[in-house]
Amino acid sequence: MAIDASAAHGFRVTRRRCLGSLAATVVAMVYPCYGGPRWLQVTRHAAVINSTPLKAALKIQQSDFEGLRKHGEETYPYECCGVLLGHVHDDAREVRVIVHAINVRYDSPRTRYAISPAELISIRRQGREKGLDIIGFYHSHPDRPVQPSTTDLTEAYWFNCPYVITSVRKGKADITNAFVLVGSNEEDKHFAQEDIQVMTDSK
Ligand SMILES: [Zn+2]
Repeated sequence: MAIDASAAHGFRVTRRRCLGSLAATVVAMVYPCYGGPRWLQVTRHAAVINSTPLKAALKIQQSDFEGLRKHGEETYPYECCGVLLGHVHDDAREVRVIVHAINVRYDSPRTRYAISPAELISIRRQGREKGLDIIGFYHSHPDRPVQPSTTDLTEAYWFNCPYVITSVRKGKADITNAFVLVGSNEEDKHFAQEDIQVMTDSK
């Protein structure tokens, strides 16, 4: 199932409302892939939900897997981005819903992406209403290799969380891989590739 959160909720959640109604931990969780304003960086670095690497595979249904790849084709030559909602088990992360997001990196959308704090909080709220958590993110690399860029690593803050990347060549989705952000702090964080298990649709 794919949801276009921006179409459903737009940007009605204002920053004031976000800060006023949600706990500081939520503030720290926004901007998963963007440096953001300096005042956010202090708290965001505390957003290490679980720094223990999970030996797992990312399980995703065929329609969702194809959906996030297609999203990269639709936004070509710009990067797409979105959120993976689901559950984390002992041996797997299970994607139940992918949510398309708007790439607000308007200065360099061909090579970078960012999800606005308002949209991310809206997506998180949608997930909770369905009993789902944010368990990962996805984006595309138009005419670039599937490997995470230096910027991807610098701007990633969700430890033990997979970042799925699809290389899109001349408008067609090519390779899709998942990379989990591991490490115990900003200095030693790095990406480790994780298997993607594409499951037969059960929806
Ligand atoms: Zn990237």
